[in-house]
Amino acid sequence: MNEGFNAFEMAQTQFDSVADILGLDTSVRDLLRNPLREYQFSIPIRMDDGTVKVFRGFRVQHNDARGPCKGGIRFHPAETIDTVRALSMWMTWKCAVVEIPLGGGKGGVICDPHNLSFREQEQICRGWVRQLARNVGPISDVPAPDVMTNAQHMLWMLDEYEHIHGGHHPGFITGKPVGMGGSLGRTEATGFGVVYTIREALKELNISPDKTTASVQGFGNVAQHAIQLYEQIGGTVVCVSCWDQADQEPYSFIKKDGVNLDTLRGITDRFGGIDKAKARDLGYEVTDGDAWIDQEADILIPCALENQITAENVSRISKKVKVIAEGANGPTTPGADKVIKDRDIFVVPDFLANAGGVTCSYFEQVQSNMNYFWEKDDVLSRLDLKMTSAFTAVSEMARKRKLFMRDAAYVIAIDRVAQACRERGWVV
Ligand code: GLU
Repeated sequence: MNEGFNAFEMAQTQFDSVADILGLDTSVRDLLRNPLREYQFSIPIRMDDGTVKVFRGFRVQHNDARGPCKGGIRFHPAETIDTVRALSMWMTWKCAVVEIPLGGGKGGVICDPHNLSFREQEQICRGWVRQLARNVGPISDVPAPDVMTNAQHMLWMLDEYEHIHGGHHPGFITGKPVGMGGSLGRTEATGFGVVYTIREALKELNISPDKTTASVQGFGNVAQHAIQLYEQIGGTVVCVSCWDQADQEPYSFIKKDGVNLDTLRGITDRFGGIDKAKARDLGYEVTDGDAWIDQEADILIPCALENQITAENVSRISKKVKVIAEGANGPTTPGADKVIKDRDIFVVPDFLANAGGVTCSYFEQVQSNMNYFWEKDDVLSRLDLKMTSAFTAVSEMARKRKLFMRDAAYVIAIDRVAQACRERGWVV
């Protein structure tokens, strides 16, 4: 499905169409449609078997007019510089749409943690920081977890950074373990944030959450926490999907009367891979990976990777679907968007729907700087407030200017970043 797809071209296409709506000046367009800075480097690692393997690493800093660059580091075998470029650009819009004082960055390493020991992963983390120690930091560029990286990876990276620079620099990285500078609620934040926006979207559509069903793509951290809160507000998840490492393909797990999150978690590995045989024993229909998109559900929640809802498969979306809330970054292509717009499906676009992660990262920085850590309820209620007010601003803009939700979110975000660039005197 990924053949010929280029995430960066997609991010630029989205940008260009909103630049037209906003009537942006050429200099602003030229500045914002490309990243400010990019780093590409090699990380040689001595593997457990004594051989040396060289991994390719990336960091892209798209824009820092509103504050230090901010964004995760992905470990993925199919990582490319263009994907990282796109993701860094989406981070700029994400921080702007939720009004936090941060810019956009993203990093990655081409590797598959499924096949790496903890020691090897630690070496990759330390190697990544060694290559970039002078180009990232609390006042310039602050990394975080993303696809297949977690709190442990962040702590190894922090430790390496502090070895190099001396002293303690908890503001260098977010998504750290709780008790080691991390924030309560950070693990839940992205998935919960998705559901805060779903709740608001349903309110707008006059639909009660307890009457709704959802189909979820992915079963990693974002998907699991989205399902948790969605069930708490009364919804029923009828399908989840996940990547199967042994078969090297995805599967969908269908249960019409509702999946049981705790049971599924009990048969899932740390990458979100569900055990197919055990799921079948529990009464799940295990079927092809794309089946999540065909479900007769009210809400689709793609929480895996980019390029999942495309011009080719968008027609498979059931007539019943009223809301698509994008937990992943870039799951829907512009070709699919056209059809979704025509069908009047309410979209909560990725950089709004999944902004809960970076919003909580911002709270983590604030807590680290104060060296005073908040209670979980406090973190989550502030998160809810931030997500809800960002959602309201976007949906008001969409209504006022008769825009598709994605375009409305872009108009708000790009306008804020363009304004910051102008005020700094970078462009006129
Ligand atoms: N990786 C997450 C994202 O794509 C979180 C970024 C962060 O916390 O800086 O939004």
